[in-house]
Amino acid sequence: MTTKNARELTEASVEARLAELLQQERFAPQEAFAAQAEITDPEIRARAAADPTAYWAEQAGRLRWSRAWDQVLDSSEAPFYRWFSGGTINVSDNCLDRHVEAGRGDKVAYHWHGEEGETRDITYAWLLERTARFAGALRELGVGKGDVVGIYLPMIPEVVVAMLACTRIGAVHNVVFGGFSAGSVAERMEVSGAKVLVTADGARRKGRTAPIKPSVDEHMGPEAVPSLQRVVVVRNTGIDVPMTDGRDVWFDEVLEAADAVDPEPMDAEAPLFILYSSGSTAKPKGILHTTGGYLTGASTTHRQVFDLHDDDVYFCSADVGWITGHSYIVYGPLANGVTSVMYEGAPDYPHKGIWWELCERRGVTKFYTAPTAIRACMKWGVEHVAPHDLSSLKLLGSVGEPINPKAWLWYWHVVGGERCPVVDTWWQTETGAIVITTLPGLDAAKPGSAGLPLPGYEVQVLDAEQGGVVEEGEGLLAIPRPWPSMLRTLYQDPDRYVSTYWDRFGPTTYFVGDSARRDADGYTWVIGRVDDVINVSGHRLSTAEVESAIVAHPAVAESAVVAKADDLTGQAIVAYVTLQGGTDASADVEAEINATIADRIGKLARPKRIVFTQDLPKTRSGKIMRRLLRDIAEERDLGDTTTLADPSVVDQLQQRWQQG
Ligand code: ATP
Ligand code: MG
Repeated sequence: MTTKNARELTEASVEARLAELLQQERFAPQEAFAAQAEITDPEIRARAAADPTAYWAEQAGRLRWSRAWDQVLDSSEAPFYRWFSGGTINVSDNCLDRHVEAGRGDKVAYHWHGEEGETRDITYAWLLERTARFAGALRELGVGKGDVVGIYLPMIPEVVVAMLACTRIGAVHNVVFGGFSAGSVAERMEVSGAKVLVTADGARRKGRTAPIKPSVDEHMGPEAVPSLQRVVVVRNTGIDVPMTDGRDVWFDEVLEAADAVDPEPMDAEAPLFILYSSGSTAKPKGILHTTGGYLTGASTTHRQVFDLHDDDVYFCSADVGWITGHSYIVYGPLANGVTSVMYEGAPDYPHKGIWWELCERRGVTKFYTAPTAIRACMKWGVEHVAPHDLSSLKLLGSVGEPINPKAWLWYWHVVGGERCPVVDTWWQTETGAIVITTLPGLDAAKPGSAGLPLPGYEVQVLDAEQGGVVEEGEGLLAIPRPWPSMLRTLYQDPDRYVSTYWDRFGPTTYFVGDSARRDADGYTWVIGRVDDVINVSGHRLSTAEVESAIVAHPAVAESAVVAKADDLTGQAIVAYVTLQGGTDASADVEAEINATIADRIGKLARPKRIVFTQDLPKTRSGKIMRRLLRDIAEERDLGDTTTLADPSVVDQLQQRWQQG
């Protein structure tokens, strides 16, 4: 097997290779990878399916429990399921103490890299020492079991310390992405009744220093967030910030003064954290996860999907403020005792090749990112990847949206050197852990399909009208059996929990909210959100499929397709398209896009209107907010835009739309 040296890549060579690869439907694991893989038993899914509770009990048994459970799964109050009832466990004990006691304290948990090039190696022993003391400090500040602690921090090691310290004493964290405005943080603190907020003086973003503490003061006074008693401030940028007497304390000072505390045995079903979903479809939901089941799900899937070995160096580019960061930067990797890379900055700062530079420098073996980031890298050009030696990489992951085959192949060819399996992982904030993907040493990947349910999970495609199981074809994605890391409720809103997830198919079948196609091999192809299926003259078309056809045009960087009400056809397709750097939106490009769509899908899938734009409205986690694109096309007032990364994008788009 020869591996192509990334250094020889040019745009033309890549384009030519992708055209060839687009003909290939399946990518089986390569021999060298399969030979070293952790999971090689082709019967693993069948064995788990024969007795799912026994399978999950076996996985949970890899963790350290302070008291064994009495019952693996209690469905007596479905859909309020309970896992590992009667058991007690502590998350920070499993993520830290357990490894340090086993003599692995000197192992690096995080190679942290700051955006100005600084670096810190954070060991498991260091994390334990800080976590145990900060847990003591939180207690002294009045935080007890079940109290909510808000965390609003940049990507610095202290964010991990703060999260783990909460778990050590049974406090419930509510992490809010550091890029959100203090206003939206205040809203989430108010709704969750947070008692303490852990934040920073300021954050660095692309060479600038953004003050955080002053805006916290502005938005989180006693009127706005009456529950908030204390604010702990991490000295991060060293800027001068006002401190309120009696309320505000410095992180380093309280940590210094506190005694280390032991991990508190927690009920398996004790609330672990609240996390708001990204808000691409509706107002963000406060999703509640609990202790034993969540840690079982996050650690098991992390080990299996990333084919973990002791010498791995793992890099997940997400932010801890998202579920991906919770499960696959913090809890999964730490429970598994892995070494990770944590990067503070943006993917294009200080330069557009920073991720690849870090991969080369740290010898990263497993890399996990989102389709939107892969498409951005494609847009920036192969010259940012080519100079870096990426031969240490063994596996690549994708999460967050359906990945269009071209981006998948680019990732596989340019980043992975056609050597690394790509795992397209489907899951949600609600599922807590990966549900559908390919096991990298066993299953062939099909670009554009997430793959098969992981062992212990069952996934179905159900008919939208009749609710029957679709063996092959399209329908609504559903999970017909509870799983350990499932959400337990929506925080303080059990009615919305039931109506959102369990009204459609009843209390035993979880309604996902995505539509999907199941193929003859049982692979799941996620089409999009339930409301992302477009019905043109009675023909059901998937937004993802139309987008893939558009993105296949070499000049196109990214595209989002939505439905607009149409008198004639019921719904009509509107496509928003961004072009590769420097390309003009000529009439030629538009005609070529239409020709490709007609060729690949059919004439009726041609958009009624194509809007060329510099940028698409995205959530802070990089997802395209299609509901806003629909609002623009139907000339409605825009709904909640607070989770947008760059609100000015929608103003520009509205103007473009009106220009016709
Ligand atoms: P909200 O629920 O507030 O609208 P959200 O659904 O975007 O926000 P998340 O929980 O972060 O919040 O995202 C989960 C959704 O992301 C899934 O339901 C699915 O639509 C999409 N998704 C995630 N991973 C994949 C993937 N690998 N392939 C296809 N879609 C994916
Ligand atoms: Mg969702």
